[in-house]
Amino acid sequence: MAEQTKYVLDEADLPAQWYNVIPDLPEPPPPPLHPGTREPVGPDDLAPLFPQALIAQEVTTDRYVDIPDEVREVYRLWRPSPLFRARRLEKALGTPARIYYKYEGVSPVGSHKPNTAVPQAFYNAAEGVRRLTTETGAGQWGSALAFACAQYGLECEVWQVRASYDQKPYRKLMMETFGATVHPSPSELTESGRAILKQHPDSTGSLGIAISEAVEQAAQDPDTRYALGSVLNHVLLHQTVIGEEALKQFELAGDTPDLLVGCTGGGSNFGGLAFPFLREKLAGRMDPVIRAVEPAACPSLTRGKYAYDFGDTAGLTPLLKMHTLGHEFIPDPIHAGGLRYHGMSPLISHIHELGLIEAIAIGQQECFAAGVRFARSEGIIPAPEPTHALAACIREALRCKETGEEKVILTALCGHAHLDLPAYGAYLAGDMVDDELSDATLEESLAALP
Ligand SMILES: *Cc1c(COP(=O)(O)O)cnc(C)c1O
Repeated sequence: MAEQTKYVLDEADLPAQWYNVIPDLPEPPPPPLHPGTREPVGPDDLAPLFPQALIAQEVTTDRYVDIPDEVREVYRLWRPSPLFRARRLEKALGTPARIYYKYEGVSPVGSHKPNTAVPQAFYNAAEGVRRLTTETGAGQWGSALAFACAQYGLECEVWQVRASYDQKPYRKLMMETFGATVHPSPSELTESGRAILKQHPDSTGSLGIAISEAVEQAAQDPDTRYALGSVLNHVLLHQTVIGEEALKQFELAGDTPDLLVGCTGGGSNFGGLAFPFLREKLAGRMDPVIRAVEPAACPSLTRGKYAYDFGDTAGLTPLLKMHTLGHEFIPDPIHAGGLRYHGMSPLISHIHELGLIEAIAIGQQECFAAGVRFARSEGIIPAPEPTHALAACIREALRCKETGEEKVILTALCGHAHLDLPAYGAYLAGDMVDDELSDATLEESLAALP
């Protein structure tokens, strides 16, 4: 029999529910706090920013949440996504390890982000919201929300981190094609943006600043809400379709993963892949090691402090207990724009504290070398973010080559690089540097914690 390369599910196998990992954890994560009172925030505090349905999902203790039919209809444009066995990469590496990747680049915008953009737009539209604001770093989230808003007739306004706005004109055009309005951040349009520009007229921006601008705009208009592409519980909840499908695909493959690897910016593609497997692990049905990989230039899980901090630079959001580099931290403009966030999802942070997952940081040169190696054998050019996960997979596969171990490795290939090719250009030209965060910068940034 020919060796199977991809495991595909029928549309009928599309998950009917999202999985909430919280009730299966030994203890729940600490709640978000109001920055003034330091008391847990209630639904009323969040109502200016999010629709009731998403606020309910943010705090739900239900193990499963039904996916509305209107959302599954849109999911069918690209879901279920394929699971690939990386046979050519395995051969090129000469490893006895079996490497699988769940490919989310088949979505309309080329990443996992529409998995949550679609339900977020749906619930907002259902509650009569007219416009959504958001930030975008790499441009993937802005594109996903612009696409989702077009599905439900919502206006969409995006603050794109300046560095990315300048480096990635095609992302802006994609958002505009879907009908969104795009501003570089920091902008003159908001108080938060103007304050930054006054101090740093040449600011290249950060996700934290762009979030402040989008939140500020949403809070001022009763018909506008804000949408976040990562970090929050409801976002990770929506992304669990990735792991649920992958579990079924592993059944088809007749295999079980020993190691799960994912890149972490805010933690959503990683959590989306890992949580359903963590459920199986906690129930004793399998025992994979689960490993998060972050950039050396923005290492929140491996070097950040586990503390209450703001989700944005201006301090407009509730305080979140998370691994953070400090809300004023501005990472070097590395190419993996989606991983340049100062904090980590509170849920991922909590699970890391519980010792249920591991984390490592890798410099971008090794990551791009892995991306090129992967592209030359598998044919897909990975987005800069998942090259971090691929670098870790390759490290492990080469370790297996030494030991002869037939380890089964699963990773989320959460996006392709068709609009990130200049980053590969820089790598191929030898112009890429490994920016490592210095202890002094980290200390200074952590001193500003609230
Ligand atoms: C946004 C993005 C990330 C980082 O976000 P997570 O929430 O950590 O998944 C990673 N990869 C891609 C392709 C992205 O678009």
